[in-house]
Amino acid sequence: MFSRSASLFFWMGVAAIAGYWLQPNYGHLLGAFFVCLFTVIKDLWKGQKITQWLRHNSVKEPPQMDGIWGDLIDRMRRILNEQRKQTKNEEQKLQDFLLAIQASPNGVVLIDPEGRIEWCNQTAALHLGMDAKRDLMQHVVHLVRDPVFKKYFSSESHDGEVIIDGRSGSLQKTVKLSVQLHNYGENRQLLLTRDVTSIAQAEVMRRDFVANVSHEIRTPLTVMSGFIETLQSLNLNKDEQEKYLDLMSVQASRMQDLVNDLLILSQLEGSTLPSVSEPVSLQGLMSSIESEARGLSSSQLFENEAPQTIQFETPQGVQLSGANKELHSAVSNLVNNAVRYTPSGGLITSSWALLPDQRIQFSVTDTGPGIASEHLPRLTERFYRVDRSRSRESGGTGLGLAIVKHVMQRHGGELKIESELGKGSKFTLIFPASRVFLETEAA
Ligand code: ADP
Repeated sequence: MFSRSASLFFWMGVAAIAGYWLQPNYGHLLGAFFVCLFTVIKDLWKGQKITQWLRHNSVKEPPQMDGIWGDLIDRMRRILNEQRKQTKNEEQKLQDFLLAIQASPNGVVLIDPEGRIEWCNQTAALHLGMDAKRDLMQHVVHLVRDPVFKKYFSSESHDGEVIIDGRSGSLQKTVKLSVQLHNYGENRQLLLTRDVTSIAQAEVMRRDFVANVSHEIRTPLTVMSGFIETLQSLNLNKDEQEKYLDLMSVQASRMQDLVNDLLILSQLEGSTLPSVSEPVSLQGLMSSIESEARGLSSSQLFENEAPQTIQFETPQGVQLSGANKELHSAVSNLVNNAVRYTPSGGLITSSWALLPDQRIQFSVTDTGPGIASEHLPRLTERFYRVDRSRSRESGGTGLGLAIVKHVMQRHGGELKIESELGKGSKFTLIFPASRVFLETEAA
């Protein structure tokens, strides 16, 4: 600043001397005036260039000036750079924030005080069947036409959530959506959507399961309480009493079987996955299952009936790693089903085979009634039975195949069911090669 004033005075002095030399009366005044005028014009020109530079906002190419203007430009450039950096940072933060909301598995919709959609993420657009760009500034109730939502949106307080039908990727598939509104800012609203289809399905399954269990337990309980009443109210002789007590014991063991199977299922759901390194002796497993099956077969044989033929083939030189109790449960369920559903004189064959890819398979084949193909996909559902009375008569709980499926899933294997009505059935368990130990390896 000082040097600029000094330079101005210097040039004014030089111009004044030169003017005086040319014109002694007023030349010195004219000289000083022209220097001032020149300085003002030069400053105006420089100011104009700086204004243009600022207007075009090209921080990278500032006009080249020296002195006080150069300092000014330098400072401005630094301030502008700083501001640019700040704005870029803020923009980046906003982008990250929006990306995070986009990545959310839940839908987010921002609604303005007039009820119009200001912004929504892709999940919300998918859930509510909207277009995240085209439908901006549309009134939300024009797009979400579910009457439950309309009522919820127009109510004063938005306590809790409502469940409405939403959409998923494909237009055919509807999903259950939990929708919740929250107030924020000045009369703005945040709409959150969450796909609760699986929760709703699990809830339906839970309710069905409880209803099924209650029904399964109530039936033998009702029968038993009828017998107890009879025993209490009638004066029965010893033989009659024994007959009733036998019938009661059948009902009690039905309840016991049901509770046992329920416990097995809950243990399967809650316990850690079976080890891949603990070999189970298939010979030991099969010999106990065989004696159980033969016992069951003779217990259901009536006088003058031809007995069932049961053939057991025990594998040699192979071990299977897994949970002994679970494997026993899976294999015995299949074998016992074959015994229970095959009429007298029928043939039940069980065998093990090592497949070429080192997997191992267990199959049980029977000459029973067979199962119609429409039932096959549902057989492993809990309490699903093809013939209810046949299942109950033979002491079935309706949980056997559900247990088998669960055990196989836990062992990384699969259950295959082949059956033809009137021709018998074949149930196969296939275990992965990673669980198979050839005895030469195990030794
Ligand atoms: P349950 O205790 O009723 O036998 P499961 O889950 O073991 O229940 O079997 C489900 C249904 O599958 C049975 O009710 C029965 O109708 C059918 N089923 C199972 N095994 C056989 C089989 N070997 N032959 C014919 N039907 C079978």
